[in-house]
Amino acid sequence: MIEKSISSLPLWFFRHFLEYKEISHFISTRIGGYSNPPYDSLNLGFHVGDNPASVLKNRERLAMSLGISVESFTTAAQIHDCNVRIITSDLKGKGATGYNTAVKDTDAMITDIPGIYLMVLQADCVPIIFLDFRKKIIGVVHAGWKGTLRMVTKNTVNVFMEKFSSSSDDIIVGMGPSIGPCCYIVGSEIINQVKKVFNNKREYINEIIKNDKYLDLWNANKIQLMEMGVPEKNIEIARICTFCTHTTFFSYRSLGGETGRFGAGILLKE
Ligand SMILES: [Zn+2]
Repeated sequence: MIEKSISSLPLWFFRHFLEYKEISHFISTRIGGYSNPPYDSLNLGFHVGDNPASVLKNRERLAMSLGISVESFTTAAQIHDCNVRIITSDLKGKGATGYNTAVKDTDAMITDIPGIYLMVLQADCVPIIFLDFRKKIIGVVHAGWKGTLRMVTKNTVNVFMEKFSSSSDDIIVGMGPSIGPCCYIVGSEIINQVKKVFNNKREYINEIIKNDKYLDLWNANKIQLMEMGVPEKNIEIARICTFCTHTTFFSYRSLGGETGRFGAGILLKE
């Protein structure tokens, strides 16, 4: 990824995605917003206890930098599951200015409609963005350990292929900052679930679990992409650990749970 300030707001971008002029995308940081501690400062989540007026100002600040209106953002009430929602034009702007309208019960969204800025919110979970560059279809996923083990990423590629007739070769993927295998210590119950979900395949388990206690969410999601036929060269992984970089990105674990959320989004330009 590369960092670039747009209208003096620091944002991060996937190199792969910058080649496609028909889209806009971003990963935001915690820098440049209006929220007070512990949400300082560019908290984009309405659901975490921050003052909603500050969150709205933060989203407006981001929208201004991206050159869009805040009502273009479309966000979900994320529940750490594997549901994929196709975003039709009547859902444009859901969750943009308040949590109560957010798209219910989903952690993955896909659309082929220009002008809808799909956005997921996280603080340690993995934000993943998708583009079928041939058919012009975009997607976003929020994948923590639960969503990852429920195969939300695999399901999302499946919807691209089943509902939009995408070819897996045409899908490019960006995996943004999240808690990394350097810091993500999990208990034996989760380790056992990983083994079960990945059918005890040694080559997978070795990629996902280190020293029997560190979980690698990046590899766990990359394996799902590759199992669906997405070529490795299409997958860009930021390899930025939010726990290690919690002064730049919100990290739920390192900041004691009460903190803000940064965003990851993608839009097909109109
Ligand atoms: Zn780390």
